[in-house]
Amino acid sequence: MLGEGARTAADADNYFKAYADAIAAVGKFQAAGKFPRPSGISVKLSALHARYEMAQRERVMKEMVPRLVALCEQAARHDIPLTIDAEEADRLQLSLEVATALLDTASIDGWNGLGFAVQAYQKRAPVVIDFITELARAKNRRLMVRLVKGAYWDTEIKRAQERGWDDFPVFTRKAGTDVSYLACVKRMLGASEWIDPVFGTHNAMTAAHILELTREPGRIEFQRLHGMGEELHQLIRKEGFGTGVYAPVGNHEVLLSYLVRRILENGANSSFVHRLYDRSIPIEELTADPVAEMEAYAQKSHPLIRRAPQLYEPQRKNSQGLDLADPFVTGPLLNEIEEFAKLPAAYVPAASAADLKDMFGAAQRNFTSWTRVPVDIRAKYLERLADLIEKHRSELMSLLIHEAKRSIPDALSEVREAADNCRYYAMRAREDFRIYDLPGPTGERNQIRLVGRGVFACISPWNFPLAIFLGQVAAALVAGNTVIAKPAPQTPLIAWRVKQLIYEAGIPGDAFHLAPGGPEVGQQLIELPGLAGVVFTGSFATARKINLTLAQKDGPIIPFIAETGGQNALIVDSSALPEQVVDDVVLGSFRSAGQRCSALRVLYLPEATADKILTMLIGAMLELRIGDPAKLENDVGPVIDKAAQEKLLLHVERLQSEAKQICAVPLARECDSGTFVAPQAWEIPAIGWLEGEVFGPILHVIRYHPGILNRVIDEINATGFGLTGGAHSRIESTVRHIERDLAVGNFYVNRSLIGAVVGVQPFGGEGLSGTGPKAGGPHYLPRFATERVTSENLTAAGGNASLLIAASK
Ligand SMILES: Cc1cc2nc3c(=O)[nH]c(=O)nc-3n(C[C@H](O)[C@H](O)[C@H](O)COP(=O)(O)OP(=O)(O)OC[C@H]3O[C@@H](n4cnc5c(N)ncnc54)[C@H](O)[C@@H]3O)c2cc1C
Repeated sequence: MLGEGARTAADADNYFKAYADAIAAVGKFQAAGKFPRPSGISVKLSALHARYEMAQRERVMKEMVPRLVALCEQAARHDIPLTIDAEEADRLQLSLEVATALLDTASIDGWNGLGFAVQAYQKRAPVVIDFITELARAKNRRLMVRLVKGAYWDTEIKRAQERGWDDFPVFTRKAGTDVSYLACVKRMLGASEWIDPVFGTHNAMTAAHILELTREPGRIEFQRLHGMGEELHQLIRKEGFGTGVYAPVGNHEVLLSYLVRRILENGANSSFVHRLYDRSIPIEELTADPVAEMEAYAQKSHPLIRRAPQLYEPQRKNSQGLDLADPFVTGPLLNEIEEFAKLPAAYVPAASAADLKDMFGAAQRNFTSWTRVPVDIRAKYLERLADLIEKHRSELMSLLIHEAKRSIPDALSEVREAADNCRYYAMRAREDFRIYDLPGPTGERNQIRLVGRGVFACISPWNFPLAIFLGQVAAALVAGNTVIAKPAPQTPLIAWRVKQLIYEAGIPGDAFHLAPGGPEVGQQLIELPGLAGVVFTGSFATARKINLTLAQKDGPIIPFIAETGGQNALIVDSSALPEQVVDDVVLGSFRSAGQRCSALRVLYLPEATADKILTMLIGAMLELRIGDPAKLENDVGPVIDKAAQEKLLLHVERLQSEAKQICAVPLARECDSGTFVAPQAWEIPAIGWLEGEVFGPILHVIRYHPGILNRVIDEINATGFGLTGGAHSRIESTVRHIERDLAVGNFYVNRSLIGAVVGVQPFGGEGLSGTGPKAGGPHYLPRFATERVTSENLTAAGGNASLLIAASK
């Protein structure tokens, strides 16, 4: 059954019905002799549940398994086999649990029509075959295993890199997959007591290998995708093997993306089908033995496909991610997070005016010694700090979850961002703080270099209390400044712990000072005479106040780096894929309870597809789990505090009287006690109707006619903000048009607006959204420094020695 998988409960219902109808139809045609026997059905589990993912394991087992059982019962009645398709690597564990549950179900006990697809490109494939064999043996049931190489290999590679996993779940050489396939074939043939083997391949070489390995053709079936491998199957049938066709079913809309996918897959240079029709490839090459090929490689993994840890080498180490779909990872992680949460919290007193004065005195006195520490050593301190951040990951995650109310995945990505910030700025500092020679007349040496400015004030927000806090501090320190950092009053504990790690990394105590406290402390800090610069992330209103204060101070005019809010809009056109739009809207608007400055605030939908997308969006929103962020199954936690909640609820009151509600996710009882705000979407007349940034899980939707795209862009630009923006479209010219005209710092195409990665998507806005330069980008550090040029007359000693030597050669 073609399609993108269920996003909503209604999608899952529809897929369930489609599968049930298909089973009835296949059963009927088979019984009437119109279909060959046996004709079966393949089921994609992600179609039967909107949240078919490990984090939602309990729901899946409770809600999805009974439906699957119902389909199996129906298939058993019609005497047709049912196979569970293989999907993404991070769903494998869950699929095996579902398989186990099916085999424990009394109503289908004794039915031998159940089958599982196994992907040979996954490194776990042989173990999966063993697991299924053991399962069959334990339950005394025959099971069908359909061995395929695996679709969406490219997606698995990208995902593993993005998530920072140590290794790929799939092989990186084509021959690796081919060898794995053959190893699995052997295992399956060796388990013939329990396994009915089916081989899904269009590769004649792979098929020939199987033919060589088997003695009992009658027990083995080959399968191909409809429209492919027909000639191969003719030959295979002659050898006495059974053959079958896997035929996708769906309407033209879903069929198109499937066909594009097939073309991409078969068009790949590594694809057997592609090579078969390439006359320039000799038959010997086409029939090369993959085992010999793998043996010949000194390096078994593909040298051009980098594992996540090496992604940025040799410049810097990548931060380490975790597979949150792996219970062997999440089990210990959750335990540690809980243990840390039990420790008594430190009391972090606010800095007094006298404290600030003392800190400033110490920071200023020690500026010279710190700024003279060679840049390479300063960079090494940051790298050590990054290692410490990762070493204390569980503790920091625990603080982020309990103090800043981050969800578990958000907390993990924030720890990664903090470590990335340190390593990236270390790398940039070595580059930026070199002494550069400048061209000029002979007899002169002209050089430019960057040096630290003095005491920098770093003022950070609660919404990224680790990554932004540390990003500012790391940049200021490595640029040779001493620092007084003021964290947000909501998140002093995280800052306190980071301070200890900064010192543990070797950075001298007098180079870094922590000044906890609220706005008053911030105001006193920026008023300190002699301050050399201020870096701030927070609201535009506060940034403006800081700017005015600095402008009125005596003394030099100092740099002010401000990162402020946004009115971030996403423009969708009618060519966009609704499922992708909905995934990215839900992620961009509601992840971190909408409390990211990059979060999606205003969604522009084309009139033609707005209703369809909104229906899907409502369904997807209703699938969100809201509750205690310390639980892996919860997607959205509370907002930061009562004040934030009240402000958002006031905005909701205005929406209630002036806008049209699309959806508000009902909150469970457990949310009564926290500062929760329901994720919600409202249709508003125009972006100008909004009075400012709404910092929470509230999405605003505007319908537009494609004829007024320019006006839409003008309206967004007219807000004056320019932080993030995006386009969802499959039309290149539309994307380029919006990219050119939308004045935003970070523009995202066919993806969500959040999750900028340090050094990969340098982050920051323009206009009301910030002064620049972008954090995590190549121009950030110079703003923390001042430039000095030395011009030296080399002839002063009596003559131009180098010119005389050069000219005499
Ligand atoms: C009956 C049937 C059912 C199917 N069901 C599923 C299913 O449930 N789940 C699923 O995922 N797919 C499924 N498929 C699709 C299947 O995965 C692809 O058709 C298959 O990968 C193509 O393999 P091949 O042997 O025909 O071609 P080949 O050209 O020999 O192999 C292509 C495969 O090699 C792998 N590959 C390519 N480059 C590399 C590389 N550098 N490193 C490692 N591996 C590489 C890729 O997986 C690619 O698909 C099914 C196919 C059939 C015929």
